[in-house]
Amino acid sequence: MTSTPHPDGNARYTHCPKCGMALGLEVRGERERLVCRACRFVFLYNPNVGVAAILVEDGAVLLTRRGGSFRPGLWDLPGGFVEYDEDLRDALVREMREETGLDVELGRVFEVRSNFFPERHSVGVWFLARRVGGTLAAGDDAIEARFFPLDALPPDDEMAFETDRAVLAMFRTEGLDAS
Ligand SMILES: [Zn+2]
Repeated sequence: MTSTPHPDGNARYTHCPKCGMALGLEVRGERERLVCRACRFVFLYNPNVGVAAILVEDGAVLLTRRGGSFRPGLWDLPGGFVEYDEDLRDALVREMREETGLDVELGRVFEVRSNFFPERHSVGVWFLARRVGGTLAAGDDAIEARFFPLDALPPDDEMAFETDRAVLAMFRTEGLDAS
């Protein structure tokens, strides 16, 4: 698997989030880090963690169509970002309830990948999930929630994320027994 590393995140921030003074670059170990000139805070610029669910019933996988401002109108696997004070499994259970109306139980991690978006680098964790309650209804920043047969997914140009497409391709070939 090849991927394109993200442009250097250190160019993106100029001021200390703690005290508001200027950040400068200093070599720490093998890397240049952003360090506050005034309070010496080291600003570690790390990827965001995202979680997504692979929920399959009768050979069809649940997808959501994105509202909001980031890639609206395109389909993705339901999920979202993990809040700083939240366990990542709790985050996905919450996102599923918000976006699809379903209560889910999570199974094992199916795949973990970097998403090198132009806007940010996120690390995605794809879990297998099973419905345990609720009623299917799109909500929050999803405008539609629908099951697609695994052999009749939306065309590539209607999928929001290359990584979702790759993970679904993996799942079609190796994951059917795992759900
Ligand atoms: Zn500072």
